[in-house]
Amino acid sequence: MHEEGHKDAAELVAEQQQLRQRRMLWGFVSQIPAFIIVPTLHFIGLLPLFPVLVYVATIALVNITLVSLLKSGFNLRFRDPSMTVAQIVAPLWPAIFVMYFVSDPQARTVFLMLAISGLLFGSFALSQRGMQALGGLIVLAYLVLLVALQIGAPERLNWAVEVIIVFAYASVLVTVAGLGSYIAALRLGLKEKNRELEKLAGEDQLTRLPNRRSLMSQLARESARLERQSLSRDSLCISMLDVDHFKRINDRWGHDAGDAVLRRIGGVLNASMRQGDFVGRFGGEEFVLLLPDTSLAEAEMVAARVQEMVAAMPCPELPEGQQVSVSQGLAVHRAGTDVELTLKLADQALYRAKEAGRSQVIVADSEADIVADSGADTVVEKVPVV
Ligand code: GH3
Ligand code: MG
Ligand code: MG
Repeated sequence: MHEEGHKDAAELVAEQQQLRQRRMLWGFVSQIPAFIIVPTLHFIGLLPLFPVLVYVATIALVNITLVSLLKSGFNLRFRDPSMTVAQIVAPLWPAIFVMYFVSDPQARTVFLMLAISGLLFGSFALSQRGMQALGGLIVLAYLVLLVALQIGAPERLNWAVEVIIVFAYASVLVTVAGLGSYIAALRLGLKEKNRELEKLAGEDQLTRLPNRRSLMSQLARESARLERQSLSRDSLCISMLDVDHFKRINDRWGHDAGDAVLRRIGGVLNASMRQGDFVGRFGGEEFVLLLPDTSLAEAEMVAARVQEMVAAMPCPELPEGQQVSVSQGLAVHRAGTDVELTLKLADQALYRAKEAGRSQVIVADSEADIVADSGADTVVEKVPVV
């Protein structure tokens, strides 16, 4: 069990790493325009060679570092293993550096446009506040550039135009950050919904117990475990439980009272289970108890305790003195037999418990024994154990 859980976690991590790799690839693709534009600016005479070389070298360095971190799994030690902020912020500085050397102020605005696509990437991993902070950072970086230009090369600066550019750019970034954070909120909401749906798919709405589907998969898991360690002969017991005269409860006191009784019985069953036991709603007013690593004698004790607890269960939805009882059919699941057969045996035993007057536990014929031992010379009598 533990091993399987471990493998699942490892698989999940591998899957997430793959997703991060794909996102990183998109990030690289989004850098391609800048990679074309920077050398082009040099060739048309708007940019010296030196900043072009610095740009190419730093972008290459940043990308190689990011890929190595991801490939080595080192990124898993970070608070955000997708390294989204680094992927957006790191290429920002080489771009700012290049912008300083661009001789035509008009050509500078090209970089501002490109930074927007970087910000949109943030909606993959950032919160609303993170998106806003990132937008603010981009504007701040541009303002730092303007100050640097004012000090180092005021001839490349037209303040009147720059004020308009910063104003327009800030407004665009507010919109983009707003849209991005909206996407981020949707993404988080979707995640939450998925988790809820997954839970609902395996859970019975009325009693909040596992439903038939998860009951069956738990049964399959437990029987597979039994096959692996089939030394102990009677280690998985199954009890099929049905509420007695439940139709009457519905008919006399109403469907809502019936629902409440089912919920109460679910609560009692849940409370009476020991560690490792599993209880679920099989359907209607039927429940199934799975008792792994349990001998028949122990299972009979558990079943008897359930009978007592249900009998003692207070039911304020019903009139004073009105009591509820249940019947159970108990079967031992043996290695080498089909779980469906064991369920059928438990069901037959339940039927006999009803026939015998309800409010009791009947143990199934050990038919599974006969199947398992067939081939041996001994003739096993079919003796019902009551
Ligand atoms: P027996 O002792 O033989 O089991 O009698 P019974 O009346 O319990 O058995 P029967 O199978 O005839 O009736 C079961 C009833 O349970 C019929 C169905 O309407 C009712 N039922 C099934 N699911 C629900 C539910 O979710 N809520 C309520 N209130 N009733 C339900
Ligand atoms: Mg029934
Ligand atoms: Mg019933």
